[in-house]
Amino acid sequence: MTDASRSEELFERARQLMPGGVNSPVRAFGSVGGTPRMMVSGKGAYLTDADGREYVDLVCSWGPALLGHAHPAVLEAVHSAVDRGLSFGASTPAESELAALVVGRVSAVERLRMVSTGTEATMTAVRLARGYTGRNLIVKFAGCYHGHLDGLLAAAGSGVATLALPGSAGVTEATAAETLVLPYNDITAVEEVFAARGSQIAAVITEAAPANMGVVTPADGFNAALSRITREHGALLILDEVLTGFRTGYAGYWGLTGGAVGAADPFVPDLLTFGKVIGGGMPVAALGGRADVMDYLAPVGPVYQAGTLSGNPIAMAAGVATLTAATPDVYTAIDSRSRELQDALSAALSEAGVDHSIQTAGNLFSVAFGTSANGVRNYADAQAQEAFRYAPFFHAMLDAGVYLPPSVFEAWFLSAAHDDAAMDKIFAALPAAARAAAA
Ligand code: PLP
Repeated sequence: MTDASRSEELFERARQLMPGGVNSPVRAFGSVGGTPRMMVSGKGAYLTDADGREYVDLVCSWGPALLGHAHPAVLEAVHSAVDRGLSFGASTPAESELAALVVGRVSAVERLRMVSTGTEATMTAVRLARGYTGRNLIVKFAGCYHGHLDGLLAAAGSGVATLALPGSAGVTEATAAETLVLPYNDITAVEEVFAARGSQIAAVITEAAPANMGVVTPADGFNAALSRITREHGALLILDEVLTGFRTGYAGYWGLTGGAVGAADPFVPDLLTFGKVIGGGMPVAALGGRADVMDYLAPVGPVYQAGTLSGNPIAMAAGVATLTAATPDVYTAIDSRSRELQDALSAALSEAGVDHSIQTAGNLFSVAFGTSANGVRNYADAQAQEAFRYAPFFHAMLDAGVYLPPSVFEAWFLSAAHDDAAMDKIFAALPAAARAAAA
């Protein structure tokens, strides 16, 4: 394991100044060990660290960099918005431009409210569901991550999974008691909880496809069944597309599945949350959905929500430029790169004798070690895998110039800028990394 010296120096300084040296826990490399690389620039499929080393990036800012880093059209839009001023705290035309792009792509969205982070989007969606239904309880699934709002940190994925925490200190028992946590992909458990407490449940929140316990494919009809059950009981379905939205397809994961023309199990979620790609790398997120529900938000309705920097003009410009450039062809290209990489990864691991499954949801995927028998269907499966194989695999890839998510519980992200040269660099690194995972 070679640690980059300038990165080491900079990280040491960061550790004196910030808890764990980071502003988001997974960045600390806690579960893979070693010194986090301090990144100083990104271009296309590549990141460059403080030591001048270049990496093919398979994190893509945890999703937003769909077009690759520093995409010319996005930079131009941002530069031109910057020249007109940074923030006005007033309505701007760009907000409606971005909202119209979302409404035009995702037919389940009739109205949209912009916020700055995915956490704010899900937090507001939960408050809105409670305000609309007059009920308190929220159902979530173990291993799904919806941001760091108190009520949804129980059995959460992402960094909570990476740090092996059951939840978070600082969440009161009263708050935790209002969240019912069920196993993912288990419709019987959902039926049972609604049979017992249906009249108290405001909403079910679920990732459109889980990607924060590694990727898990929703069983056929699972999301549609959630929609049916919530409707039968007067509750709402909140489909969290913060990670999958505008990444797994032109209209998100819902657009690929329940909202697709001719879908086997069509359904329409009541509320959806977006983040990441919608801002193209700037802090933008949003919640949207049925007009009658969304109009419960202030100033029309009684559910309060606000933000000094919500709809920030620079962030809106980045979002508009990103979604405009994210044409159907972009998704076709990323889908095909993703399949190539899944095949190469699986072949390298098989060649090295490493038992694994490749978990997919559209173009999103992750690897899970020692899971070939049943794959990963829920959080218990994800936690039971041979996670210890990931650290040596990760470091072999890093040493070969490929930057993977520093946790086995995260998805791998590709971009439209991952060309043949970038893919070849990844393919070349895989065999040695697979042998490292076997050891
Ligand atoms: N929801 C999902 C599905 C996510 O993956 C994330 C972040 O990874 C969030 C919500 C929270 O978004 P943010 O980190 O912008 O607060």
